[in-house]
Amino acid sequence: MILKTTALALRLYPFSNTSRIVSWLTPDQGRIVTMIKGSQRARSLFLGQYDLFYTCELLYHRRERGGLHIARECSPLKWRAGLRHDWKAAATASYLAGLVAQAVPPEAPHESLFRLLDSALDHLEAAGAGEPFVFWFELRLLEALGLSPRLRNCAACGAELASSSRRSDFAAARGGLLCAGCVDKTSSGPRVGGDVLGMLAGWQQARLPQGPLNTKCSARQIQAIEALLSGFLEYHLDVRPVGRREALDVLARRVA
Ligand SMILES: [Zn+2]
Repeated sequence: MILKTTALALRLYPFSNTSRIVSWLTPDQGRIVTMIKGSQRARSLFLGQYDLFYTCELLYHRRERGGLHIARECSPLKWRAGLRHDWKAAATASYLAGLVAQAVPPEAPHESLFRLLDSALDHLEAAGAGEPFVFWFELRLLEALGLSPRLRNCAACGAELASSSRRSDFAAARGGLLCAGCVDKTSSGPRVGGDVLGMLAGWQQARLPQGPLNTKCSARQIQAIEALLSGFLEYHLDVRPVGRREALDVLARRVA
């Protein structure tokens, strides 16, 4: 069956000297993997038509009984050339696309996830990145997958959590923050300050990244959020996100 869809290139792999395998995110077919035969040949019609972080119109032959789908035609809708010139944005885009590739099961349509990544890459190209942008994206991704951490109510009993002046215990395995009555000292994770909680809860609600990007965060707050979300992502997505450490190091200028 031949299908036409909009597709965002998450990852590219060499298959042979002349062919490539591309992992795509689409709104209507979910995450799909296609072979692009002969795409590296000098006269290939695919030359320049796709690359990492491009959003394309893709025509492909869908293999119903497993195996790789075969790309037939591809034309770019968004090139995002800016991501190739800004290394911070490129490292961030690489992490976000890789995280989606790791977290999203194959062939499960998820239009809101596609919109999230497509618009996040647009934003990265236009406005660049910062650590809060990465955290915002992670929170939005978790929400789209139905895995949002509970930050306003106790993840165990549902009781409303206290005001921003209080600290709470965060337990990734139990889905978020715990009230004093539900804390099990043996299994709880880090204690989280009210300032960090306030940021996270606000970013979780933010549909667009401008608010998070405008938040003034101290290095201590960034470190706390980085560790908290890292544990949550690994536990609930059951993957070790590739490129997260590198992207955050680049954004924090911890690497030259
Ligand atoms: Zn509770």
